[in-house]
Amino acid sequence: MSWFRDDALVGGRWVRADRTIDVENPATGATVGSGARAGAAEVDQAAAAARAAHAEWSALPAVRRADHLDALLAELRGCRDELVEMTVAEVGAPVTVATAWHVDVSFDILASAARHARTYPFVQEHGDLVLHRRSAGVAALVTPWNYPLYQLAAKVGSALVAGCTVVHKPSELTPLSAYAFAEAALRAGLPDGVFNLVPGTGPEVGAPLVAHHEVDVVSFTGSTEVGRQVAAAAVDHLARVTLELGGKSASIVCDDADLVAAVRWSVDACMLNTGQTCSAWTRLLVPAHRLDEAVAVAAARADEMVVGDPTDPATELGPLTSGAQHARVSAIVEGALARGARRANSETTTPATGHFMRPIVLAGLPVDDPASQQEIFGPVLVVHPYRDEEEAVRIANGTAYGLAGAVWSRDRDRARALASRIDAGQVFVNEADYNVEAPFGGWKHSGFGREFGVEGLVEFTELTAVHL
Ligand code: NAD
Repeated sequence: MSWFRDDALVGGRWVRADRTIDVENPATGATVGSGARAGAAEVDQAAAAARAAHAEWSALPAVRRADHLDALLAELRGCRDELVEMTVAEVGAPVTVATAWHVDVSFDILASAARHARTYPFVQEHGDLVLHRRSAGVAALVTPWNYPLYQLAAKVGSALVAGCTVVHKPSELTPLSAYAFAEAALRAGLPDGVFNLVPGTGPEVGAPLVAHHEVDVVSFTGSTEVGRQVAAAAVDHLARVTLELGGKSASIVCDDADLVAAVRWSVDACMLNTGQTCSAWTRLLVPAHRLDEAVAVAAARADEMVVGDPTDPATELGPLTSGAQHARVSAIVEGALARGARRANSETTTPATGHFMRPIVLAGLPVDDPASQQEIFGPVLVVHPYRDEEEAVRIANGTAYGLAGAVWSRDRDRARALASRIDAGQVFVNEADYNVEAPFGGWKHSGFGREFGVEGLVEFTELTAVHL
């Protein structure tokens, strides 16, 4: 597939847009591709195409839709290497991260959606009451740049098997994997108009799309600020809306935990994808009497991390995805240092070209400092001491966000009890594995609605209760 694109997929046909947006490789500064800079006209056409395809698609039995999704997935698996290469090039994700956390996990997510479609009881009988879960209609899927393929998979799998037809707007910074997905959909023979792709900017494509009268359900992942605008626009025409927004998640290390293992794991979880992960554990909460030890372990792990060429399998952190993000993260860190934060790890050099940044461990900040409250979305960990469990819970829950969290203790029951007090959509106990079956989403300013699992499927349905 050419990485230099100027088109939108509308009703199964590629339609050229007048303008394009270059895709920069954030590690080298080179232009590695382009996406269409489409506008309201293409949004109109795509929404109309999705509407036209909806009746037939939603009338298929769910198992047939699952067959289509499996066929699409087989096509994607066939271009796994290119998807990885593309992700390294457009996101700057290290190749090991791109393989495991962008591409392979996306395959798992799509496979899971197909499985749920085969087993989910879309019709449920409760005596003289029959509940029908039916497709919610045309879905607008708007995604950010940090995990482009994964974010699309998280939405489109459930949307398609639920019977929705979709219009996808990827981030203007990272449209390439969306093109690869669209090409795979065409090769797999997905009926025309079921998946439509309209690349472009937020104001020019995203805004008219989420406000479009043909759109029945909006699924948005991105910043809290834009999420608010999206929700307002969707509600204005009474479209249903799911928001997956930012986070400032805490990892609580209990006094009986294996401190070294817990801190090292937490640093890794914070820095995954160069810290550009919405659910990253960006605050580390440790017992006050072990603060110095924890900070030293975190700093040592951060200093060990290999930052550099994302195509090298030894690299742990690539560049930030854009110059704008690098500037934003740098400004937040400088602000924190100016307010008295201590940078616990050393400041070694980074490659001269590209938007590279070494991981940073900050200590000595009050819990209400902006750097401890705001989502930074870069490789920055903030460490805070706590006196007792009550204070740990208070600090963990003491931000506007509620996306994820972690609890570390040798006593699983204690950890479980503590985890159930964290106001967040997902909490991990010790080394618990990430699970694509687990519903994912946020509390408070992290959004509402869920992706993955049965809950993710249900978001794309409407309910009819038939009384017999
Ligand atoms: P963003 O909010 O700037 O943009 C997200 C998407 O919305 C992009 O495609 C953008 O073009 C589009 N957009 C911008 N303005 C719009 C508008 N007015 N109407 C409709 N669409 C519009 O976010 P970003 O910078 O691309 O991504 C980073 C943010 O995403 C971070 O805050 C991060 O936490 C969040 N995020 C959340 C999750 C989650 O699942 N909770 C996952 C990944 C990223």
